[in-house]
Amino acid sequence: MHAWTATLLTLRTQRHMPAIWETTVAVRTPDIEKLAARSRWLLWLVVVVIALQFTPLLVGEGFGFNSMWIALAAMAVHLVMSVVLIVGVVLLLVAQGNHILMVIACGILMVAPCGNLLVLLLVNMSVTRTLRRAGLRVGLLGVDPKEVERIINPGLCSSCGYDLTGNTSGVCPECGKEL
Ligand SMILES: [Zn+2]
Repeated sequence: MHAWTATLLTLRTQRHMPAIWETTVAVRTPDIEKLAARSRWLLWLVVVVIALQFTPLLVGEGFGFNSMWIALAAMAVHLVMSVVLIVGVVLLLVAQGNHILMVIACGILMVAPCGNLLVLLLVNMSVTRTLRRAGLRVGLLGVDPKEVERIINPGLCSSCGYDLTGNTSGVCPECGKEL
């Protein structure tokens, strides 16, 4: 097994590591609604960034543009996406209730070579943990907004949002979901 894969597996299985990270940096109660929304936003952003890695090459080969302009355009896109990713991570850490120094440190680390990958990985692990502790199901692309609604408004149907106050049948009268 490659050393890199082994390291990743260790990071994933050592559950106490993010726990230490959380207890030392969290100074405020996390805003679960914002945290879920921002993590979802950031995960999609990462997908877009990965997709963009391939676009300059595809455009260059397909349309025969001047390679210098393509290189410049690729650099500009890369720069913009880097800034957007930093802003995304900072907003996520703020919603998680981290100490301002922690937020600044991570923001600076994002600029370091390969730092953004490390920070994204650690922040994603930590945020996933915070969201799971709040009782949310976290998928590959974050939390379904309906899941957040279920936690914030326990009186509403998790499937359709129907108000279930006083419901005794155990079944949502609107969509038929079992409660
Ligand atoms: Zn329903």
